[in-house]
Amino acid sequence: MEQEHLRTKIIKYTAVLVLISAVILVSSTIVVVAVRKAEERSYTAYVDSLVNEYRLRFQEQMSTDFEMLQILEALMEKGLLSREMVIADQVRDLAPNFSFYKVGYYAAGTEELEIHLPGSDRPYAFSSRPAEAQEAIRSAWSGENAVSQVYEENGARVVTYAIPVYQGDVVKGALTGIQGLDEFYNVINSVTTAGDKITIFWTKNDGTVIASSEGETVLDDGERMIASAEFPDRSDADREAIFRKTIRWEGTSYTLYCASMGDNGWNLIYIDNGKDIHSPIYSMIVLVVGAFAILFLACITAIIYTYRNTKKDNRKILSLAEQDQLTGMDNLSKFQWEAERLLAQDTGYCVAALNFRHFQYINDIFGKDQADELLVETAALLKRLLKKEERCCREKPDQFYLLLGETEEERIRERLHGIMEQISGLTANFHKNYAITLYCGVAVEQEPQDREELGKRLLAHSEFAMKMIRNGHESEIAFYDQKMHEEKQMNVMIESSRQEALENGEFHLYLQAKKDLEGGTICGAEALVRWIRKDGSMIYPDRFIPVFEKNGFCAQLDLHMVELTCQMQRNWLDQGITIFPIAVNQSKLLFYQEDYIDRLCEITDHYRVPRKYLVLEILEGLAAENLEELNQTILRLKKKGFQISMDDFGSGYSSLNILSGLEIDEVKLDREFLMAMGTNREAKQKTMMRNVVQIAKDIGIRTVAEGVETEADEKFLQSIGCNYGQGYYYSRPVPAVEFGERFLHGDQ
Ligand code: C2E
Ligand code: MG
Ligand code: MG
Repeated sequence: MEQEHLRTKIIKYTAVLVLISAVILVSSTIVVVAVRKAEERSYTAYVDSLVNEYRLRFQEQMSTDFEMLQILEALMEKGLLSREMVIADQVRDLAPNFSFYKVGYYAAGTEELEIHLPGSDRPYAFSSRPAEAQEAIRSAWSGENAVSQVYEENGARVVTYAIPVYQGDVVKGALTGIQGLDEFYNVINSVTTAGDKITIFWTKNDGTVIASSEGETVLDDGERMIASAEFPDRSDADREAIFRKTIRWEGTSYTLYCASMGDNGWNLIYIDNGKDIHSPIYSMIVLVVGAFAILFLACITAIIYTYRNTKKDNRKILSLAEQDQLTGMDNLSKFQWEAERLLAQDTGYCVAALNFRHFQYINDIFGKDQADELLVETAALLKRLLKKEERCCREKPDQFYLLLGETEEERIRERLHGIMEQISGLTANFHKNYAITLYCGVAVEQEPQDREELGKRLLAHSEFAMKMIRNGHESEIAFYDQKMHEEKQMNVMIESSRQEALENGEFHLYLQAKKDLEGGTICGAEALVRWIRKDGSMIYPDRFIPVFEKNGFCAQLDLHMVELTCQMQRNWLDQGITIFPIAVNQSKLLFYQEDYIDRLCEITDHYRVPRKYLVLEILEGLAAENLEELNQTILRLKKKGFQISMDDFGSGYSSLNILSGLEIDEVKLDREFLMAMGTNREAKQKTMMRNVVQIAKDIGIRTVAEGVETEADEKFLQSIGCNYGQGYYYSRPVPAVEFGERFLHGDQ
């Protein structure tokens, strides 16, 4: 149904939107992950290069310092520098960036001061040097360049550089230089060639921070973070590489980059939180991720918004589409859908169309509000009275449909009477004196041949049955009857297509022979209309004449038949054929038309047919209405030359006055008289006919008997002196042309 359809539609749209969002999400995730990985790689390489740059600068600084000492050592070896010489000023002149503030020479093994720089007025004995310096000097004695660990001297943090001094291949002693840390501070505080400046920690191998390019707090935090990283001792092989380790610190992830500095176990460490350094690709990623996130959010918002709105609209539409707004019960389309669904599972249902009689009156007398209240209460009552698998709905203002799980007529009547009774009782709520009556049409198919659209069919049939009793006064129930329906449909067809049929020549002239019972020859005919439709089907006058009599079309048709008759007569006359009078049935409507006689004359004149060849058959019922007026018309017609026949005499409440009171030429005894042959009414009817024929003869009126079907009929008619016979015994009504061929002859 609509509801299902809409739901499926919503689900489809949502699924498409979700799919699109998912594709966007997945592809953006793939892109982001790929970019992120590339970025990570390039970022790490970038940071590696930064840290390495600091290491190189640091090492460069140390190399420069060693070179200074090596110059002194070369001078000493060449004997240009005696150990007692005060060399500081000369050296400083030679190398302006000479950074040692004290230089000393320690003969190998003697541990004695042999030279000293100005400012050191007392001997600078080996034993008085701190352990860090002694260790560096010892390394130099063993032939290696060395830098001591950082130590304090006179309140300043310093290091001692020591290089071996050779005599030939033998180490003679160690040349030392004491230096403050300013040069190193400058290195770790410098800006890289890429323009970045990062916080570098200069640490010992155990993680103790010697110095950093930041203040004390960062240094504290940094020292603890470095300690938590627990850098392992590394072999000589991987000293060149930058060692990385990621740690979590107070909920944030940090990567520590560690560059090894040399033999004395110094490291340069950079603690990265991923934010300080911005590689160009980083901003791009942020942008891309942001854009995708916004797009995704927009998509999700659109889905939610659309879904909510559609759901809301849908609910509204469904309520409008499926519910009766006044009573809240299902409307017709929902009912129809439900009926179809339930009938598909089980055909054991009937549909009842229930309507209030004179609802307009209830509206007018009690007002719209009370009438509405009655409808609302009826709806509530119906819902209560129906079983679980039964349904009801309101269609027009005062019409309800019920789908009841019953198929037996008695049971249906019982239940509907009960329902109608209870609804009638509802008036007690607002007006005790008014008795509500309802009427109800029921459609049921015991064993439906065709299950296709069974609900729709039952609905239409129940309404049809209901309309058949619309004009009653009591509460009643009508069951749908197929024949009744077909008749109704036929009437509708007859009503609607009559004019077109007349214009298309679908009304044909048939003629039925009349026999002269005395002479034994065919001496006349009756014109009978046949409606032959486009598809070749034939409709008999009994079916459509009563309808045309009601709507007035009969007058038009009768004149048309007069015209067809005259046309045929003219045709025969032109062919030199002897014609005889033809009787044409005339509806009573014609007798009330002022120009009737003129129009008849016009036709006969037009076809130049002598009027004595036309017999006008009028129904006896017409005589009963106004004998005097009718007689006037008859006299005028006779004056014009037409013959008048009284049709179907004896079928209604015939009065013999008609025979005496009207100036007719002929009376046609209704075929009912002869139909009684062989029944228990035969004797009576025969007596009647004998007398009517006798009376007619006595007053000079010809008699025609209709419905002559047997030889016995003919014999009887002859025996009573009836003038003419008409019936299947002589001929059935046949097309006019065929009649001519069979019964007419050329002039002798
Ligand atoms: P009706 O004027 O009494 O016509 C005689 C009807 O009896 C014809 O029926 C005819 O076919 C039928 N009939 C003839 N012989 C026999 C027989 O031996 N046995 C039986 N059972 N029936 C016989 P049809 O043609 O169906 O016409 C029925 C009625 O329709 C006519 O009765 C007449 O009242 C009316 N009608 C026919 N054509 C016209 C017409 O053009 N105009 C008007 N106003 N009424 C017409
Ligand atoms: Mg007739
Ligand atoms: Mg008749």
